[in-house]
Amino acid sequence: MTDTALILPRPDELTERARAALGRIGATATAPGPGTLTARTPVTGTDLEPVPATSVAGVDAAIGAATAAFAEWRTTPAPVRGATVRRLGELLVAHKEDLAELVTLEAGKIRSEALGEVQEMIDVCEFAVGLSRQLYGRTMASERPGHRLMETWHPLGVVGVISAFNFPVAVWSWNTAIALVCGDTVVWKPSEKTPLTALACHTLLARACRDTDAPDGLHSVVFGDAEIGSALVDDPRVALVSATGSTAMGRAVAPKVAARFGRCLLELGGNNAAIVGPSADLDLAVRGIVFAAAGTAGQRCTTMRRVVAHSSIVDELTSRIEAAYRTLTVGSPLDAGTLVGPLVDERAYDAMSAALDKARADGGTVVCGGDRVGDTGWYVRPALVRMPTQSSVVREETFAPVLYVMAYDEFDDAIAMHNDVPQGLSSAIFTTDQREAERFLAADGSDCGIANVNLGTSGAEIGGAFGGEKETGGGRESGSDAWKAYMRRATNTVNYSSELPLAQGVEFG
Ligand code: NAD
Repeated sequence: MTDTALILPRPDELTERARAALGRIGATATAPGPGTLTARTPVTGTDLEPVPATSVAGVDAAIGAATAAFAEWRTTPAPVRGATVRRLGELLVAHKEDLAELVTLEAGKIRSEALGEVQEMIDVCEFAVGLSRQLYGRTMASERPGHRLMETWHPLGVVGVISAFNFPVAVWSWNTAIALVCGDTVVWKPSEKTPLTALACHTLLARACRDTDAPDGLHSVVFGDAEIGSALVDDPRVALVSATGSTAMGRAVAPKVAARFGRCLLELGGNNAAIVGPSADLDLAVRGIVFAAAGTAGQRCTTMRRVVAHSSIVDELTSRIEAAYRTLTVGSPLDAGTLVGPLVDERAYDAMSAALDKARADGGTVVCGGDRVGDTGWYVRPALVRMPTQSSVVREETFAPVLYVMAYDEFDDAIAMHNDVPQGLSSAIFTTDQREAERFLAADGSDCGIANVNLGTSGAEIGGAFGGEKETGGGRESGSDAWKAYMRRATNTVNYSSELPLAQGVEFG
């Protein structure tokens, strides 16, 4: 495995770069406040800039402002709301490089992936602008003469968005662009690990609002940890809590929102697998698997964590993945040649080391990787592990680049092993056998929210609904009809006759 011997930039250079990107966007990080949150960079594991932390009273004020803005925004015609999102999209195009720079600095993504994340924001803005003229309701046939039966969709209220560190800007845009065209207002609690990117997004949206005369208070960002997230979760004025993060976070959030009869949209952990059949095109499979497993240093919710390969090809497949892993360049995400950047922090490294220890104890063999590179930041070589069975460590999500490979003989066993994890986000099959492919997509195939044929588990397009089942939380965001989660549905019956027939033929006096 090659690496760039960790030639890392100086910490003060990174701070300068962050300041410069924020400056071009028009955002300033330092402002007086009751407390501070320090933005850090995984590139060197050092501090970047202090950001004012929000108090619980500050969250209350942001929700108050969003509630007031909602009164105006909900009656603003949807295509007019779309104009604000269109302007946001234009600003994102203009500042794509700046925002990507901040994503690299705060989340440690390599340049190309950071640019891809911002492109996803631009794409979802375009989608939302089109949607602003397509918030369709149905008209149904009424059983009563002279009656019309239809459904209308109305804005829901304040949407609280809680997001994770690993998609610091795209997840916000999926929620915010759609919520805004749906007539909702937004209060955003970004990850405490990525406050600068959040500040940058908020600044761009505030400018889009000014440029299109959208009401003040339409969008606020609140900075802090789980306590600040909880303030958003507990507030009955927040109609929908859209929370992205670990399953542990979802377990804490969901019952609290349910207890106040609020709505929850959960996008939680994944433990994504690929089945590789005996007929698979192995060149394609290796490329798809390596990007999905090692890309983003294994820190995507859709990262491939398991391969279930037919016993006739499992050895060859493992050797070919190993050969590809040995060519991966681990190093500064700011360098053009790097394919694998840093883990977010020491905790992530410890979790990866602990998982590898458990895997070994369960009879697994670490084929390659798993070792730390350098002693600045938390850089690791992606680990490839052969496992005799799908033991408990394989069934957990370890948010780091660990890929477990297991063998199967019968296709039914492969599907059973694939589904035998608590999470249900993304899945893939590599096969040229149409029967296998169709079975994988059928009701008794993959139990995930995303099921792909002949491509990896990560890198979804915004046009489809994104999300997963079981402990992944059941939410759907982004494309298709995911917008319905951000609106309330009313069923309307209009009687345009001079009679009053009752439904189901009921007679009453
Ligand atoms: P995390 O759960 O540690 O934090 C996510 C967010 O939740 C942060 O903003 C955090 O402050 C907040 N939070 C934590 N506990 C809370 C509580 N009790 N109340 C309110 N807010 C709370 O996750 P992370 O380490 O930032 O991200 C990695 C995890 O996110 C992985 O499990 C990954 O699979 C998941 N993820 C899922 C998706 C998806 O779409 N399914 C997308 C990205 C990340």
